[in-house]
Amino acid sequence: MSKRYCFGNWKLNKSVAQSQKFLKDLKEQFQAQENVELALFPSAPLSFVFKQGLASGVCWGPQNISYQKEGAYTGESSVEVFKELGASYVLVGHSERRSLFKETAEELHQKIKLAQQTGLTVVYCIGETLEQKEAGQTLEVLERQIQEGLRGADLSRVILAYEPVWAIGTGKSAEAKDLEIIFKELKDRVPDASLPILYGGSVKEQNSKELIEIPGIDGFLIGGASLKLESLLAIYKTMGA
Ligand code: PEP
Repeated sequence: MSKRYCFGNWKLNKSVAQSQKFLKDLKEQFQAQENVELALFPSAPLSFVFKQGLASGVCWGPQNISYQKEGAYTGESSVEVFKELGASYVLVGHSERRSLFKETAEELHQKIKLAQQTGLTVVYCIGETLEQKEAGQTLEVLERQIQEGLRGADLSRVILAYEPVWAIGTGKSAEAKDLEIIFKELKDRVPDASLPILYGGSVKEQNSKELIEIPGIDGFLIGGASLKLESLLAIYKTMGA
């Protein structure tokens, strides 16, 4: 079995006390599976909790970074500090960053380059909106996002996450038959066929077994279901050989 990735995006959820409890329970309950990597993406202020309390064998990373290294950029978060605190990954281009915070393709490209120079692996999120899907533009949109973000990138430090915007947080995952076609197309369109590609969008323990069997899916980016340790570990378990 090739390597698989079980990544949890906490978004703007959990207090310090809740995170400490989650990580304490994770330490007690985590049973690593060969070839399945578990990583969590907490909100930035929780970074110290993760530096201090994460189970060995589990990784973490921020949900966003500044595209500037340092300097007069009030309110931004430095990728170098995340690295100092033990982050291994960073999410770039999540649809909430693109739509709510109006991040541009050029900013995302700069974040990818800076994160890679700092030694982090980028989880680059792409995905079409419902409107684009209904207009038959899915592949065109994905191809454009791949080219915009990954031109000149170090492909050995990239994981792609395909997250149809209409499937995020809606409880409505993409259909297996559609994902089969899209993942085949994605594998043909990425600059390196060995680039891992995750699926994200309403993954839960009830559908993870079926989804992970789809050819081309190398793992998941999980939002809501990663907030409950039992659900996260149940999904993680379905991803083993
Ligand atoms: C996400 O936030 O990237 C996500 C896929 O969320 P959910 O699993 O809740 O749909």
